[in-house]
Amino acid sequence: MVSAPASKTRPGLLDGLDPEQRAAASAPRGPVCVLAGAGTGKTRTITHRIAHLIRSGHVAAGQVLAVTFTARAAGEMRSRLRGLGVDGAQALTFHAAARRQLRYFWPRVVGDRPWDLLEGKLRFVGQAAQRAGVGTEAEILRDLAGEIEWAKASLVSPDDYPAVAARTQRDIPAPAARVAEVYRGYEKIKNSAQLLDFDDLLLHTTAVLEEHGEVAQEFRDRYRCFVVDEYQDVTPLQQRLLDAWLGGRDDLTVVGDANQTIYSFGGASPRPLLEFTRRFPEATVVRLERDYRSTPQVVSLANKVIGAARGRPAGSRLRLLGQRPEGPEPRFAEFEDEPTEAAAVAARIRQLLDIGVAASQIAVLYRVNAQSEAYEQALAEAEIPYLVRGGERFFDRREVRQAMAALRTATGAADDDLVTTVRRVLAGVGLTEQPPAGGAAKERWDALLSLVEVAEELSATVEGADLGRFVAELDQRAAAQHPPTVEGVTLASLHAAKGLEWDAVFLVGLAEGTMPIQHADGDDNAIEEERRLFYVGVTRAREHLWLSWSLSRHPGSRRLRRRSRFLYGLLPEDHPAAKVGRAKSGMGSGPKPRCRVCGGPLTETLDIKLGRCGKCPSNVDEDLLERLKNWRVERARELKVPAYVVFTDATLVAIAEQRPTDNGALVSISGIGPTKLERFGAEVLAVVREGDHS
Ligand code: ATP
Ligand code: MG
Repeated sequence: MVSAPASKTRPGLLDGLDPEQRAAASAPRGPVCVLAGAGTGKTRTITHRIAHLIRSGHVAAGQVLAVTFTARAAGEMRSRLRGLGVDGAQALTFHAAARRQLRYFWPRVVGDRPWDLLEGKLRFVGQAAQRAGVGTEAEILRDLAGEIEWAKASLVSPDDYPAVAARTQRDIPAPAARVAEVYRGYEKIKNSAQLLDFDDLLLHTTAVLEEHGEVAQEFRDRYRCFVVDEYQDVTPLQQRLLDAWLGGRDDLTVVGDANQTIYSFGGASPRPLLEFTRRFPEATVVRLERDYRSTPQVVSLANKVIGAARGRPAGSRLRLLGQRPEGPEPRFAEFEDEPTEAAAVAARIRQLLDIGVAASQIAVLYRVNAQSEAYEQALAEAEIPYLVRGGERFFDRREVRQAMAALRTATGAADDDLVTTVRRVLAGVGLTEQPPAGGAAKERWDALLSLVEVAEELSATVEGADLGRFVAELDQRAAAQHPPTVEGVTLASLHAAKGLEWDAVFLVGLAEGTMPIQHADGDDNAIEEERRLFYVGVTRAREHLWLSWSLSRHPGSRRLRRRSRFLYGLLPEDHPAAKVGRAKSGMGSGPKPRCRVCGGPLTETLDIKLGRCGKCPSNVDEDLLERLKNWRVERARELKVPAYVVFTDATLVAIAEQRPTDNGALVSISGIGPTKLERFGAEVLAVVREGDHS
């Protein structure tokens, strides 16, 4: 394995990379791992690496298989590869790749017994639950389906499920033995209907490769170079498939950010990323810190968000260094109710459109899909075009299927270029010169027009692309569920937004119970995953970032909601909603003490000391608390005073929750006045800082 002489690479390919990125992109064949934060150019680095390996003759484009986790992210990779002039490298989700391979190998391995894909497992789970005597309410079925997915992704069989569920302390909807029975029943019903679910695609493909030597050989002759983006979210099942693909070889490049792990609830784990060098000690490892995506204002906020994270992934975080010019400060906004929040978002989007931000460069991101409705309504009222991610599948739309059929049978006139031909064919299925007035007809027209735009993009990037090539492109996109971009504001869940970026990002509905989601409450790991999800949201913004929440759902209902705990410490001092958490010690007539989590008034002495209501969640850093207590013991011994004279327990807890980094933050904690600041301030700050280096 030798690296290519530089002369073989087209000049300039790696010029757009910084030295660390270039080191990863130009590393010789073999294992490479890029561990880095959001927006530091991981995806850019791997797409350049693929282009470089192809250009320098290490591998043919068709031998490259790049995988990631969402269809959009795969689409993003494909567009970037295209931009680098790479044509023919596959960039797919794990599922799309497995599905394609299984289609190909199935007849040889299984014969002509057909299979179909099961879309949505709730019906079968319902039947199995009924037989097992478990509740069949919608919510329970969803939880059961979630457990089955988790178990399959984690390679846990129905027989092993009860033991593993107990060991991993799963929060489950029914006794483990019952869940296992539902799982077993579901598998039976599904198999006898000759259907495969999404996880089966991976399981079966893995089994075929593991058990059929000649099939594995053919596959390995075909694919030689593997790249995984967002590797922090790999499940044991996906890892097993990846290993089957590799078959003991080591041409594997992985990139990821443990602090963006957002699928642990589904069995994903950052461990293979963090332990990559243990598996491949000779791997080239690169860490990136410069953030090229976002303004320093957004980067600074992102650093604060992830700076508060705890747990194993947090140990690998790096501080992002913003590289872009200054931009606007992030905006925070509190509203009375959701419709008012949505209307304000729409109004702000209108302003952005007016100053020239493209609609396709704006996204509204939320925690759960049900939140989209209010925003769809508000945007429709403001006559702002939008598209919902995860809505109706683009390639399943009737007019799109008709268009594909027409394109397949059409022939291009010799002297017409691709775009003209495509326009002509699509005119036959309803693409008029001028768009119709609005409503469903306009939507259909937009969908057809977006196909023309794909043709435009293709002919601009692939020389001599003809109708056949165009249809192949559409087929590929359909298989990978990569719809063309329709010009409009994106509405998407935070999960679906990973790996993507927009000029303006609206993070909405940032209230407790939604962000973090209700069911994460009380489970530290789940809360940390929610925090990472919030971090993913913040880091999607290039320039304009908006964070909002509302105090009630419907206009006029009681204001029962509180803003998200993750906003604590992020709001600027002079923000009206930020006037909390600065309860000064002593009597005085200063501002009334308020809870720094929910903003509500504090009356109990202990609550005032802690700076939050007893029932509001605590995010105490246990390690830090331990260190503070040790420090206090020593100090008290030296001074020959009881420990509480140094600081009370409540004050130590407050320090361990708030992790002050300067004197200002320290005196804002109840129990620390000027005298204590003078005596102990520097030492306490040092104790807080100690943990940052561990
Ligand atoms: P995420 O963790 O969110 O997936 P990432 O690390 O994959 O982020 P990219 O999407 O590759 O980051 O890059 C973020 C943005 O910064 C992109 O617009 C990319 O083109 C740009 N960028 C990355 N590296 C450079 C560079 N060296 N010079 C200029 N722009 C860069
Ligand atoms: Mg990326």
